[in-house]
Amino acid sequence: MRFVWATRTHTGMVRDHNEDSVYPEGSGEGGPGLVVAVADGMGGHVGGEVASTTAIEAFAAVDGDPEERILSANEAVVDRVEDEPKLAGMGTTLTAVEIVDEGHVVIGHVGDSRAYLHRNGELRQITRDHSLVGELVEDGELTPEQARLHPYRSVITRALGLERVIAVDTFDLEVHPGDVLLICSDGLTEMLPDHAIAELLDEGAEPGETADRLVEAANHAGGHDNVSVALVVVEDDGDH
Ligand code: MG
Repeated sequence: MRFVWATRTHTGMVRDHNEDSVYPEGSGEGGPGLVVAVADGMGGHVGGEVASTTAIEAFAAVDGDPEERILSANEAVVDRVEDEPKLAGMGTTLTAVEIVDEGHVVIGHVGDSRAYLHRNGELRQITRDHSLVGELVEDGELTPEQARLHPYRSVITRALGLERVIAVDTFDLEVHPGDVLLICSDGLTEMLPDHAIAELLDEGAEPGETADRLVEAANHAGGHDNVSVALVVVEDDGDH
């Protein structure tokens, strides 16, 4: 099995700066130990950018599973606020996937960025949104489409940087050749419904091209927010 990855982050069409961060940047190929992540910062003009950058740097700097890395990233953002009180209130989402071994991945997640699995033409959201509207969808009070357009859609209920102790959701997943893992910030999912994302993944272009098409589609739909995507495509390497 081969794991071909690509990440992209873009300011979008409305904002004047990008508060999202991705790890790593660019595209490549990897095996067990590969991690990719998306963080979407919040907290004012400077704060959001500092929060997501600080989190991604700390996430990348430690060894460990996604939960350990996210806990370390949280500590780093909380420490940064203690050092610079003017940054108080900044925080960030962080959603990551690690390739553990052939056919097995682990996802770690805090916030309202998302991880999806695209398999056999079907797109399934793996993570739960830690947001006000996400909870209302789970309680059956809003449909996903109502949530996507809701005025309070950006109110999040769990984030890195706000408290020393946080809970990280983790998901173990078996993967097979042909599967695509997508991690994205809400700048993608607010602009595109799931079926539009699935259609672009169905085109089966190489990951860098697919990532570019997703960002372009979000921007074409209005690009109201920063948009970030990380793709990991599982391929058969022909060894067996
Ligand atoms: Mg966002």
